[in-house]
Amino acid sequence: MSDTREWTRRKESRMGVRIGVIGGGQLARMMIAPAVELGLELRVLAEGEGMSAQLAATGVGDYRDLETVRAFAREVDVITFDHEHVPQEVLRALVADGVAVHPGPDALQFAQDKLAMRARLAELGVPQPEWAAVRDEGELQAFLDDHGGRAVVKTPRGGYDGKGVRVVSDAAEAADWLGALEGGALLAEELVSFTRELAQQIARRPGGQTAAYPVVETVQRDGVCAEVIAPAPHSTERLVRVAAEIGERIAEGLDVTGMLAVELFQTDDERILVNELAMRPHNSGHWSQDGAVTGQFEQHLRAVADLPLGDPRPLAEWAVMVNILGGPAEGRIDERFAAAMDAHPDAKVHTYGKDPRPGRKVGHVNAVGDDLDDVVYTARSAAGHFA
Ligand code: ADP
Repeated sequence: MSDTREWTRRKESRMGVRIGVIGGGQLARMMIAPAVELGLELRVLAEGEGMSAQLAATGVGDYRDLETVRAFAREVDVITFDHEHVPQEVLRALVADGVAVHPGPDALQFAQDKLAMRARLAELGVPQPEWAAVRDEGELQAFLDDHGGRAVVKTPRGGYDGKGVRVVSDAAEAADWLGALEGGALLAEELVSFTRELAQQIARRPGGQTAAYPVVETVQRDGVCAEVIAPAPHSTERLVRVAAEIGERIAEGLDVTGMLAVELFQTDDERILVNELAMRPHNSGHWSQDGAVTGQFEQHLRAVADLPLGDPRPLAEWAVMVNILGGPAEGRIDERFAAAMDAHPDAKVHTYGKDPRPGRKVGHVNAVGDDLDDVVYTARSAAGHFA
């Protein structure tokens, strides 16, 4: 009884609401500080000991195991995510139990499965690359023949940072993936000749309130996001409008709650095409921690706790984010962080508390200001202490 009253009190005041984050990576870690500021209690179900978000980890366990996730959900008021890998069966069982899950499984399925996403975006009339579901070499070869002999093949599930994405010019190059399908299909896409990659973020509350961030330019190296410039340089009014409209249409059409990131291609003939979706804070929005009135981690928490959204406006003309990847450099990472902070007091260095294995994202640098060259220099130079 007192439990129910306590819960109702928290729901009504919206303060002290307990947010449960499934996954203990850096995205969960970066929700910790804003949760404290908002008066929310953050709990994390981490995959193992020593994860990036261990400061808030209250449980360690397998997010694929229903009873583990159920036990975690019993201790919180809202469930949200650091990643999109929690199986649909688990999510649907939570919803049936009456747990508030944001984003819900009906929305999240389109961030979990790229084929389902392509089919749904087609229904919504959102511009995207030409695509097909291919089940065998014959179907892939037919797609290749129709698209100039080259295409991008993707495994629909489980890919990240370019893993699960392959450019092929012959169906045999995807034989291993096709052979492992067990009745499913791969996603084949036209090889888009893009001039740059962009990302549009938008936050959405359960009741439908939205807040869109400016469209940003993202630069990938080896399939991994390296830098983000906010807003995207040389943005025309049309680009800003079209990107925001796409974000809005997807957030509403899929009933997304929390932060949505829409990765986009801009082509040389000025088309804007959707690459993929993430329904959580996203690397393309890290700049907003220091460069916007409301950072994406705070905004995600506000949205999933059903609090009024914050202003997404930038604080300066430009914000630049440069990722720090673990590399071959010798020496202690904390010393390198200190050196970067010493050389660039105007840069904001964010650390993820991870071992710096080669290629692994271990932190990022944000710089903000009104001169793009200065801001790029500051962010790159501070991040350069880790190269
Ligand atoms: P992941 O889920 O691993 O991030 P993506 O689908 O985002 O995979 O693809 C990773 C990268 O591969 C993209 O950022 C882009 O650079 C490139 N890419 C993906 N799809 C296409 C495409 N249809 N045409 C051209 N390049 C593509």
